[in-house]
Parts: sequence; C-alpha cells; structure tokens
Amino acid sequence: MKKEELTELTNKLHPSEYSTESDVLKKHCIDWRGEFIGKSKLITFPRSVKKISEILNFCQKKSIGVVPQGGNTGLVGGSVPTKKGNEIIINLSNLNKIRNIDLIGNSVTVEAGCILDVIKTKLEKYDLEFPLSMGSRGNCQIGGNIATNAGGLNVIKYGTIRQNILGIEAVLPDGRIYNSLKNVKKNNTGFDLKHLLIGSEGTLGVITAATIQLFPLPKEKVVLWTSFKDFSQVLGFYKNINNRFKDLITSFEFMNKESIEVLEKHECKFINLKKNQCYCLVEFSNFQKINDFNDFIFSKMDFKNLDTDDLILSKSESENKRLWNYRESIPLAEKKENFIIPHDISIPLSNISEFVKKTTTSIKEFSIGAKIINFGHLGDNNLHFNVLIKKQKKLSRKSICRSVNKIVFDNVKIYGGAISAEHGIGQLRKLELKRNKKVLELNKMRDIKKIFDPQNILNPGKIF
Ligand SMILES: Cc1cc2nc3c(=O)[nH]c(=O)nc-3n(C[C@H](O)[C@H](O)[C@H](O)COP(=O)(O)OP(=O)(O)OC[C@H]3O[C@@H](n4cnc5c(N)ncnc54)[C@H](O)[C@@H]3O)c2cc1C
Repeated sequence: MKKEELTELTNKLHPSEYSTESDVLKKHCIDWRGEFIGKSKLITFPRSVKKISEILNFCQKKSIGVVPQGGNTGLVGGSVPTKKGNEIIINLSNLNKIRNIDLIGNSVTVEAGCILDVIKTKLEKYDLEFPLSMGSRGNCQIGGNIATNAGGLNVIKYGTIRQNILGIEAVLPDGRIYNSLKNVKKNNTGFDLKHLLIGSEGTLGVITAATIQLFPLPKEKVVLWTSFKDFSQVLGFYKNINNRFKDLITSFEFMNKESIEVLEKHECKFINLKKNQCYCLVEFSNFQKINDFNDFIFSKMDFKNLDTDDLILSKSESENKRLWNYRESIPLAEKKENFIIPHDISIPLSNISEFVKKTTTSIKEFSIGAKIINFGHLGDNNLHFNVLIKKQKKLSRKSICRSVNKIVFDNVKIYGGAISAEHGIGQLRKLELKRNKKVLELNKMRDIKKIFDPQNILNPGKIF
C-alpha cells in the first residue's frame, strides 16, 4: 500500500476509526495461538456499515487486500494479515449494536461486532437462549462466528450457527451492500446467498449484521461428569443416554486421560476425580419445568447398563460452572505446552474408535513419547485430535508437523471424516484442503470466489 493511498483512506475515517500505531497493529496481527504473525500498515475500526462500504470500495479500486477481523479467536490464522504486509485490517468491534429483538418471532438482529457472551447475557433477561456457546464466547464476535460457521458446545441440540441464521447483511468487495435481513423462516426465492457467506472466512464479504433464531431459555441445567475404562464404553454410554434423554441433552463432551493430565499440569486440579482413561461431561437442560431436575435425571439413569461407578451430578449452578470450567480450560492448558500439533476433525461415530486406535498407534511409532490429547464435542462427531510432541527427533518442527498431519488426515479420509469440523481452513489447512477436497468442488469454490471478488482483495491467502 502506497503512502498516498494510506493518507487518502485515513482521510475518509474519523481518528477513532483507525490506527497506524505499531503497538496496536502488532496486537491485531498475531493469532490466538501465536502461530501466525502477519504485517499491516493500517487497522480500521469503522463505526457504520457505510464506512465499511467506503473502505472496501476504495480498496477494490486500488487493489488493496482487506482482512476482516472479529474477536481474533480463530484457530487457523484466518483473521490476521499475511506476512506480505500489503493488506489492511477491518476490525468489526465498533459495529456492536443490537438492532432488534423480536419477542413474537423469537429472533434477534445483531451487528457483527457484538461479543457472543454479551448477546447471550442480554437475551437471558427475556428468557431467551442464543443457540451458540463456546470457550471463546467472552471474546469472539457474532460476525466471526458466522464467517466460521461456528459450532461449539450445543450443536447436539441447536446445530451449528448456520442452522439458525434467518438473514445476513454484508458488504461485498466492491462496496455494495447485500441485505437479506428478513425475519422469516421460509424463503424459497432461488439461490440462498447467505449460505455462501456463512463459513466463507472473510473471503466473500464483510458480514455486518445478522438475524438469528432464538430458543426458550432452559429453567436450569444439570451437568453430569463420569469416566470410563475405554472409548467403546464411552460410545455405549452416548447411545444409552441419548435414547433415554433425547432433547434434554444440550452438550455431550469427551476428554481422554492425556487431556486431563495436561489440564492438571497447567490449569487446575480436580477434586474427587477418579483416574480413568476416558471422561465425559453431559449437560441436561430443563425446558419442561420439571420439578427437582437433578433427582429426575438421577432417577432416569440406566445404572444397570452403565459401565462406570464414577458419576458426579451437579446440584447447583456453581457446580455446573466448576465442571464446565474443567472442560473449557483444556485449550488454555494446551497453549502452555511447547509443541502441540492441533487437528480439529470430525469422524462418523461408528468409525471413531477404530480411527483413534489406528492413528494413535501410527503416531506413536513415528514419534516416540508423543501423547495424543483427545477431547471435543463428541455428540457432533467432533474430535480435537491434538498431538503433543515430547521428544524431538533430529527433524525440524515443520517436517514433524508434515508427517503427523499426513498420518492423521490420511486416516480421516479412510474413515470418512472431515479435515476441519469447526475451525475452518484459514492459512493452517490450505494444503490439506487441496489434498482432500474433490477437484470439482474446489474449482466450483474458486468460481464462486471470482464472482464475488474478481480482484481477490478479500482475505487473500486464506482458504485457497
Ligand atoms: C478457547 C477457544 C475455544 C474455542 N472453541 C470453539 C468451539 O467450541 N467451536 C468453534 O466453532 N470454534 C471455537 N473456537 C474458535 C473461534 O473462537 C471461532 O472460530 C469463532 O467463531 C471466531 O470468532 P472471532 O470473532 O474471534 O473471529 P476471528 O478470529 O476474528 O475471525 C475468524 C475468521 O472469520 C473472518 N471474520 C471475522 N469477522 C468477520 C466478519 N464480520 N465478516 C466476514 N468475515 C469475518 C476472519 O477474516 C477469519 O477468517 C475456539 C477458540 C478458542 C480460543
């Protein structure tokens, strides 16, 4: 970006809407894991959709790359610029109003920069549930959630965010504003463009607002914590509990022994935890105003067919939080390890046991001392299959990553899974996307990108 272009662009903005300060830029050019560090000369914090439109219009005319950025909690390097230094950042945090809450249609229209947790808390006052929750909810933004088609802790009940979006407003790369903010569930009027923007990781448009379906807020929640000797018992438990409790289950999380070890090493000790191989957290929500919900869950448990005598059923909200905190602190604990190779995959439940067994064996053969930290939203087939490398062979980090990724992703293919379940492609998984997506699909994706963004100014170097 030339100096005079920078001046021309910043002249269009209020001083509170941009920064060229190196400290500010540094903070926004590094991703959550600290793995991707880019460069940029300008970050903007526009206060209106019109300003975003003006910025994009200018950037398209001058062929300047633009990186849309939400809470910067993405885990694949999609929200930060590349090392080239010729992209600017549009950070959405100043576009943070709730435009409308529809108490008859049960929906909310929010601007993209709203923080997920802020929206969830506001809606609780209306006895409404925003159908998305995850460990990053205190920082991630609705626009980022939509751009990554976020999943999270409650997909088993509500689906990913895609399933709950009624309409989207976005600024396209040439500055034109696309608006489908209709508050209707049925709209069969040809191709539904909003579904292209959902999960597009900032490569097709800058999402500025969305209308999202809401649900009744459960009266209370009960969290169950249990452990098992092996993975097949976990799957048996999953099947059993699903048949018994069906719609009352709002989360089903799995953690293996190694994830608990890393957690206890870096974050928190768990009182009364039995040592076992596999752990599960199940959240039940009381939608039907059932009295004594904790007793109700306990009485309906099928103890006869349960392969465990280790079971905690929460009795208060603070106990719920304590158990959840345990599960949600695993990524923070992992971050403190020196060398972790992350994989956010999904595998059909019927193949998951076999996948874990085969992949773990192959990785341990390749790297002696490696540990597999397995945890995730098992109820949605989602597994974070993260490899902790202990002893470095005489190989570079890059080549170890390449070999481990090959073992994992080859098996993902064999067992019919997906190389990214919820974090997306960004910069991290470009190579694997190329290897694993069918050529026809990839070419159609490229065609769509060209239609939206012929000059490739939006989030260049991401996905493709
Ligand atoms: C501790 C932790 C736990 C997590 N748990 C989960 C989980 O359970 N489920 C899950 O799905 N993810 C999870 N994530 C990943 C991450 O939080 C999600 O991907 C989240 O949706 C990203 O939102 P964000 O606002 O931080 O987006 P960013 O990180 O800022 O951006 C992510 C991508 O979206 C694009 N983008 C951002 N805003 C916009 C916009 N307004 N318009 C267009 N493009 C945009 C960016 O360019 C980038 O490509 C977790 C992350 C952390 C750190």
